[in-house]
Amino acid sequence: MNDDMVIACADLVGRAGAAGFEIGYAGDENGPVEEARWYAVATYQGARLISDEHRSPTAAALGLAERLLTGATCRCTSPVSLSDTRAGCRWQLVGQRWEPGCDAAPVAVSGGKRGDVAAMRQALAQVPQGGNRAARRAAQRRRSQ
Ligand SMILES: [Zn+2]
Repeated sequence: MNDDMVIACADLVGRAGAAGFEIGYAGDENGPVEEARWYAVATYQGARLISDEHRSPTAAALGLAERLLTGATCRCTSPVSLSDTRAGCRWQLVGQRWEPGCDAAPVAVSGGKRGDVAAMRQALAQVPQGGNRAARRAAQRRRSQ
């Protein structure tokens, strides 16, 4: 078991605004390793993100981290990338932490409880000019109508 991976996943889940994080084992603890079924869960208000059917807690933690990061938007407003061949803000595991490729300041979420995805989206939507392409595109659409 790779502790770094599990700790990094727990940290990422917390930073992603989830209310809870759990790694667990579903199956026979005395059974063969090939039949091990580890899972990792991030809990949000009214929603759960699960990565399951893994052979080890490390794999479950990595799977959940990838699910959290895939399709996510970095605080620098670029899409998160987990590959050098993809455009976006390149995130990678550094020790016990998933680190972004940028040094943008964290997005402060005001109002809303922990795990409140809507409040987080709202906070991100208020990120000021200088890279918020989605907002600029929306503004252009509004102007052209
Ligand atoms: Zn970034």
